Amino acid sequence: MSVRVRFAPSPTGSLHVGNVRTALFNWLHARKHGGRFILRIEDTDRERSRPEWEAAILEDLKWLGLQWDEGPDVSGGAGPYRQSERLPSYRAAADGLLGKGMAYFCFCSPQALEAQRQERLALGLPPRYDGRCRAIVAEESARRRRSGEAAAVRFVMPSDRIVVHDLVKGDVEFLGSDLDDFVILRADGSPSYNFAAALDDHAMGITLVIRGDDHLANTPRQIAVARALGWEPPSYSHVPLIHGADGAPLSKRHGAVSVAEHRAAGILPEALVNYLALLGWSPPSGTDEVQDLSTLSRLFVLDRVSRAPARYDAERLAWFNRQHLRRLPTDRLLALMEPMPPDDLTQRAVKVLSKEVDSPGALKRAVAEIRAEPRPGSLRLTAADRRVLEALDKALAPGAVGTADEARHVLDSICRDLPGSKREFMHAARLALVGSPQGLPVATLLWILGSERAQRRLARALAAPVGS
Ligand code: GLU
Repeated sequence: MSVRVRFAPSPTGSLHVGNVRTALFNWLHARKHGGRFILRIEDTDRERSRPEWEAAILEDLKWLGLQWDEGPDVSGGAGPYRQSERLPSYRAAADGLLGKGMAYFCFCSPQALEAQRQERLALGLPPRYDGRCRAIVAEESARRRRSGEAAAVRFVMPSDRIVVHDLVKGDVEFLGSDLDDFVILRADGSPSYNFAAALDDHAMGITLVIRGDDHLANTPRQIAVARALGWEPPSYSHVPLIHGADGAPLSKRHGAVSVAEHRAAGILPEALVNYLALLGWSPPSGTDEVQDLSTLSRLFVLDRVSRAPARYDAERLAWFNRQHLRRLPTDRLLALMEPMPPDDLTQRAVKVLSKEVDSPGALKRAVAEIRAEPRPGSLRLTAADRRVLEALDKALAPGAVGTADEARHVLDSICRDLPGSKREFMHAARLALVGSPQGLPVATLLWILGSERAQRRLARALAAPVGS
């Protein structure tokens, strides 16, 4: 059976790194097994779902490189992939269950349900629906519905044992009698999460559900629905959640948690997926930690996912960011520099500076500094400085500094012929070339700037008044 996994976000907010890791594990598992990664939008909460959030989630996933094989915008034969477009299938399934006595209409108002909850709490019982509408006979139920009374549909929860054979947690046992008859269709006809998820996982041929372990308690309900409809449920893997440094599940109060915030802070998608993949999953020992998505997908095996919650560590993420920045191909580096022109100067500067700095922001600043012509007014050149700059200017024939090695050669030969110290010479040259006494070696600067640009900058420096 070919692998079909899904990521099923609700478009009620921006994509959180915890969700990204769920998406990533699904994606890695699909790629590893040559299966399909399906994106399903769970937008049945009409109040909270927004098309803008859906668009943002799709954009974030694309930015991360987690392309889906089937989804709202990629047809694959099991669509539609937006739950709001699948309402007739939920109603038909609910009708089927009602017809077989496996579901019933519930007329309890929200106030009545709340009163029930309080009663049970007062008796020290778990606050769940007590099943009172199960007893309403079919004729009575039909009459009340005809008279326009609002009714939800509830599932008759079987009371027997349900074992979730979880690939990460092992077998987890539930007793149906501990679970209530949950709502499958709300009074407005919209499906509940557990019902829609169970139906769609079947309709979309999902073979394995990989999701956060906050959903483990839902799984027996989804299994019961599948079985009631005569289906074999998919396999499950519940992955421990990501926690903050204080041990609580990662949330807004820990700082940046959305993909958008990470992106705005200069985190590279390559670094974020690499870091998140290793958060709760470990590659075989001896494997280099810094990897791209395609290598990670070759290495990924679910049984190396940890059973303990993972700790989010911003410093470790920053370390991955540095590692990936050093490895980025030039075209990606140039895209990060926008709106700077991707000319030869920027190209050479990013090649060198991406190995020196810690973040794309720092890279942009460093490249901008090199691109900016030093202000002549800021230079105070001594007569000795002028002599070395003149000598350098003379040595910069076209093409003389085509490589950093050639540039080093040029500098060495000038230094040999000059009376002053090499340090003083380099200091004056760097000031004239970039206006700053610190930074890259002068040979590297010369190579980045090229002969012509370097000569222009030297000429401007030489045109400045002589200092003391
Ligand atoms: N829409 C659910 C969520 O975002 C999906 C849970 C699942 O994967 O079944 O939490």
